[in-house]
Order: sequence, then C-alpha cells, then structure tokens
Amino acid sequence: MTTAGIAWVVAGLIVLKWAAQEALDWLNRRHVTKHKDAVPKAFEGVIDETTYRKSTEYTLAKSRFEQIESGWSVLILLILLFSGVLPWAFSTFRGHFGGSAWAGAAFLFLVGIALSITGLPLEWYHQFRLEERFGFNTTTQKTWWGDRLKGLLLGLVLGYPLLVLVLKLVEWTGAHWWLWAWGAMMAFQLIMAVLAPVLILPLFNKFTPLPEGSLRERLLKLAERTRFKAGSIQVMDGSKRSRHSNAFFTGFGRFRKIVLFDTLINQLAEVELEAVLAHEIGHFKKKHIPKMLAAAAVGSLIGFYVLSVLARQQWFYEAFGFRTGGPWSPDRYIAIALLLFGLLAGTVTFWLSPITHWWSRRYEYQADRFARDVMSEAAPLVGALRKLNEKNLSNLTPHPIYSGFYYSHPTLLEREEALLADGPIAGA
Ligand SMILES: [Zn+2]
Repeated sequence: MTTAGIAWVVAGLIVLKWAAQEALDWLNRRHVTKHKDAVPKAFEGVIDETTYRKSTEYTLAKSRFEQIESGWSVLILLILLFSGVLPWAFSTFRGHFGGSAWAGAAFLFLVGIALSITGLPLEWYHQFRLEERFGFNTTTQKTWWGDRLKGLLLGLVLGYPLLVLVLKLVEWTGAHWWLWAWGAMMAFQLIMAVLAPVLILPLFNKFTPLPEGSLRERLLKLAERTRFKAGSIQVMDGSKRSRHSNAFFTGFGRFRKIVLFDTLINQLAEVELEAVLAHEIGHFKKKHIPKMLAAAAVGSLIGFYVLSVLARQQWFYEAFGFRTGGPWSPDRYIAIALLLFGLLAGTVTFWLSPITHWWSRRYEYQADRFARDVMSEAAPLVGALRKLNEKNLSNLTPHPIYSGFYYSHPTLLEREEALLADGPIAGA
C-alpha cells in the first residue's frame, strides 16, 4: 500500500470510531427520550417524578455535550495528523534544540500541552455550565484553574523525566528497548501507587480522620469482621469540587486508608455507608484490583511491542507527512513514533471497551454479593445504591447496547435484580 493509502485507512478508522460513538449516543438518547414521560415500572415508589425527569434531562444534556466534544476531538486529531502541522513543528523544534532525548521529550510535552489547551473550553463549559445547571458544581474558578496549574506542574516534575527516560532507554538498550520501557513504566506506576496518596492527593484535597462516633465504630467493626486491615478511615472534602459522591481505598498494607467523600457521608445513612464500604472491601477480598492491574500491564506490554514494530517502519512516519529522506534511521524519529502511537491508540482501544467494561461489571456484581453476604441482607446496599443513583441523577434507562459498551458498573436495576435474585445469602 502507498503511504497515501495508509493515511486514508487511518483517517477512515478515526471517522469510523467517531461514527460509532455518534450512533451509540443517538441510540441512547432515543431510548431515554422514549421513557422520559413516566417513571419506569421497576422504580415506581422508589424515585419521584420530578427527580426522574431531572435525571433524563441531565442524561440528554450530557449526551448532547459529548456529541460536541467527540466531534471537536476528532477534528483536532485529523488536523494534527494530516495538516502537516506536526512535521513542520517537529523540524522547526529540532532545528533549534537538536535531536537529544531531552529535546524529544520536551517536544512531546509541548504537544501534550497544546492538545490539552484545545480541550480547555469544553472542560470549562462542562463544569461551569452543564454541571452547574443541574446543581452539581461546587468548584470555584480559582480551584479549577489551580487544578490545571497543579496538573501541569506534576506533568513537568513526573511526566517529563519519565519521557526522557523512555527515550534514553531506546538509545541505551537497542532492539529490546520496548521491554525496558515497559518495565520502567510499570516501576513508575508502582512507585506512584505508593507515593500518590501521600504526596499528590493532598495537593488537591484535604483529608481528615473520620471523627470518633457511631459511624466510625460501625465501620471499624465491619473492617474487623471482614479481616480487612486499614490504617485509618479518612474523610475527603469532595464537596470542594462537586456534589457527586464516592468512596475508595489508597495505599498498601498498613498504609492502606479508607477514604469516604464528605458528600457520601451526607447522603447516606450509617448502615448504608457500611454497605458501601463492604462493597469496596469485596473488591479487595476478591483481589479485583491486582487482577485489573495485571490485565492492564499485559495490555501495555502488547502496546509497547506494537509501538516498537511501528517505530521501525518508514511508512509509519511518511503517512503523516514526516519526510524521512536520507539514510533511514528509526532512532531519529522515536519521539514521533511515541506521539503518533499516543494519538492513535484510542482509535483501536475504543473497540475493546465493551470487553473491559463487561469484565468490570462482573467484578461489581461480585463485590455487591460480598457486601450483601457480609451485611446478611440486601436492603442496606440496595438503599445506598438507590440514593446514590438519585443524588447523582444517574440514567435509569440506558439503551442496553449503550450501557454494554460504556458502563463500568451495571445499572441500578441490574444490580438490584442480581442482589435480590441470585443465590442464598452466605451465612444467613
Ligand atoms: Zn465497585
């Protein structure tokens, strides 16, 4: 195939992904609109008419926003890949700063910044118009811009050296560089998993120990009952940014912390908070986190291998307008290979998302079942899930193909049915 042919195939794949996103959104909007006039039978008496109507409006507004967002990002991607701007920027940059790993990483970093600037207006609109309209936004302008600035500085301090290291590894280790680069990436992620809770999360949020009292006692008893070792239970000021709520763990071993959003504590009764924590402990007990991490590690190993193969092909660069004339040496272009791969990976991984989400939903069912068994009844978790759906205005009637493609969690109805139906309660 000619390089022009390859360029057309890549452009076709990008447009195909975009068309699939549009079709899924369209299906979902039609489904939600069809059901919007009456509370679905399964939720009669559970959710009131006003809240239900608001949840459908929120879903539709988000969907229209996503439509604009995906169109915009496809446009930017096509311009970046096919207008000739990247080859021009690269040769200009190289003319000034040379071809060292430091310069290559700086180029990648600058392209990353330029790309994120193109996304800023939509991100801003999402937070201060869409989320605001439905009463979720609590972020101030100062916090929002501060977050972006902190993100940029973290990228500079952590991301830039990592990029330099990857490019250096290409120089140092030759043909098997992709194995080394993958190893470096894995090591980086492990270090971050240990350091992030201590060094990074506190840059964005305040963490305070859950005060003494009945809730704390209840949660500690649950941890003891399930033999879950936790260093502490912390409350995070999630309300600083949004009224959406969540709970999670951070850290390893005796540094492990249970983190509850203040918004979650305000929304749920104590027994429901216990059920939510039991669900999270379920993820831990069933080893979902290491399994997911292992799968992600295998995925990135494959990614690095594919990248190393593409990086050796002259046509890979020429298809996007890079003139690689003279004696062919892939090492000169490795930064560009990383960039092109980074820009294009989503076009391929998009089609894998139904599989990863299906897998994730299986884990959610398992964690739900664990929580139900530990609590000896389904009611507290069902109560918590209903409230969380209501408070977050979650879509109760997604199109099955849409939720199958995108949802990392089963819908409320699916979770309730599974909790009430399958299997006897262990130990009850
Ligand atoms: Zn879960």
